[in-house]
Order: sequence, then C-alpha cells, then structure tokens
Amino acid sequence: MAQEVGTGWVEGVHPDDVQGCFDGFLPAFHARIPFRMKYRLRRADGEYRWVIESGIPRYTGAGEFAGYIGSNIDITDLKHAEEERERLHRLEADLAHISRVSMMGELTASLAHEIKQPIAAALVNAQACARWLRRDTPDLEEACQCASRMVKDVTRADEIIERVRSLYRRGTSEREQIDLNEVIREMIVLLHDKANRSSIAIRTELDPGLSQITADRVQLQQVLMNLMLNGIEAIKGTGGELTVTSKRSEDRQVLISVSDSGMGLPVGETDHIFDAFFTTKSQGTGMGLSISRRIIESHGGRLWAISNSNRGATFQFTLPSELAEA
Ligand code: ADP
Repeated sequence: MAQEVGTGWVEGVHPDDVQGCFDGFLPAFHARIPFRMKYRLRRADGEYRWVIESGIPRYTGAGEFAGYIGSNIDITDLKHAEEERERLHRLEADLAHISRVSMMGELTASLAHEIKQPIAAALVNAQACARWLRRDTPDLEEACQCASRMVKDVTRADEIIERVRSLYRRGTSEREQIDLNEVIREMIVLLHDKANRSSIAIRTELDPGLSQITADRVQLQQVLMNLMLNGIEAIKGTGGELTVTSKRSEDRQVLISVSDSGMGLPVGETDHIFDAFFTTKSQGTGMGLSISRRIIESHGGRLWAISNSNRGATFQFTLPSELAEA
C-alpha cells in the first residue's frame, strides 16, 4: 500500500500508457469529476494486464475534497476475446469473398455454354435472313421472321450476361423489394448447365402467390447458390434430382427449400455442418453454410437442414414477408 499511494501506482503502469493515463486522469482530477480509462498495469507476477479504471471524487461530510476513490477491473481476457472475434470476422469476410469468387469460377464454364447457345442461334438466323434477301425475288416476310428470332436470341444472351453482372453488383447490404421466385429462376439458369453435365435434373415447385420480401438480392443469390451447389455436389456421380420449392408458411413467412437425392448429411455431424470451416470435401472451405446462415439470420429468418426419409438432404430457410411492411 505504501508503494501504491500518491503517485506510486504510476510505477506499475506500462511505460507506453503512462502519458495516456495522465491525460485521462489529470483534467478530471482538476475539475473534480469522475473519470474512466483503460491502460496496462503490472500485476504482482510481473505480467502487464489491461485494466479499466474508474474513479470518482470523494468528499468528507463537511464537503471537503478528500481525494479519489476508484477501482480497477482486469479486462485482459475480454480484450483478447474481442480481438479474436474481430480477427475471425475479418477472416470470415475474406473467405466469403473467396468462396464467391471461386463459385463464379465454377460457373464460367456453365455460362460460356449458356451464352453460346443463343449466339449460335442468332448466327443461324442471320445466315438464313441473308439467304432470303439474296433470292432473285427476296422473301421479305421470311427475312423479317429471321430478324425477329435474332432479336430474341440476342436479348436472351444479354439477359444472361445481365444476371451475372447482378451477381457482382457491389455494395453492402442493399435492401430492395424482391420476388424470390425470380431469384430462384435466375439461379437455375446459371446452374442449369453444371447440373446437366452431371445428369442432374432441377425441378421447381414455386408458389405463384408468394409475397415480395425486402432483402439484399445479391446476398440471397449467394445463399441459393451455396445451397444448390452443395446439392449438386451431394448428388454428383449418381445422377438424381434437385428440387427447389417456395411457399408461404403458416406464420406468414416465406419458406424456401432446396432438396437433393444425394449422399445425405454426414452421419453424426449434422450439428456441425453450419460451423465455420466444417467441411467433408477435399476442396471445401466449410464456409458456405455458415455464411448462408448468417445472411438469412441478418434478414430475420432461419436456415436449417434435415435428412430426407428416403435419400439425400433438404435445406430450408424462412424469411419474414412482413419485413416489406416494416
Ligand atoms: P463446403 O461445401 O465448402 O464443404 P459448406 O459450409 O457449404 O462448405 O458445407 C459444409 C458441409 O456440410 C459439407 O462439407 C458437407 O459435409 C455438408 N453438406 C452441405 N450440403 C450438403 C448436402 N446437400 N448434402 C449432404 N451434405 C451436405
């Protein structure tokens, strides 16, 4: 105690924090007001620990200033936990970005094919159009029909490109009015070829009366793509079916499910599949489901998985449709 009273306590303060302590404490002391500050203080065993100190001026019964009384709370563990949490958040954000970029990589082949089809069709129609026009008596009617087919083909190619661009659209959580059925259809267009190459049929049962929701379109695309790619990967090699359904649940929520006839959830690990970094794939990141769950929860919904009674797994999520009114 003898060492600590007066300014003795300064001896134990980390040299880098001494100035900060004086800056925090002296003005309060002169003004006789309470203060609060954080600094590193040496413990009896010599280790510097982060403390949060708060002090208040004390007065005698006669109203005379009698120094400060205060307390120090050791917040080192809390501080480390906070730093660790921040580090994990940054890591997760980085991985989310990587996982999206690698998903786009997988889709490139699929897209090249999707875009090639309408372009090839447009070429055929352009050649036919030229032939009709080059005839001795040009057939304008036929040429016109070819030209309108070309417009359709090119519009289709343009739509596909536009969808990809929307996947890349930047921005943090931009909420807008969304027709989830439309987002599902877009994803199916993008994944159609990939599924086809693995002999997987994609089936939909979409409720036409589904109400619109307010959500971040890009994030929901990411969730659907994660779930559908996982489904395709689970079926791969065996052929099978991926079913995407949308409907309204009893409590006025929108319920989407992605069901596959694949290998099924990893036995005994069902509780862990949503954990960050949990993966049973040699090339997996184990981030898809953890990110998807976070996205759905940030929209006020829930995401979970169940094993199908016959084969495969079903992933379902709900989103509140009242969000639109809110
Ligand atoms: P990744 O796909 O990179 O492994 P995810 O977080 O998307 O990361 O998935 C974590 C794990 O959950 C997968 O490795 C797999 O074991 C399991 N899983 C996900 N989707 C399915 C599915 N449709 N069928 C069976 N298991 C699945």
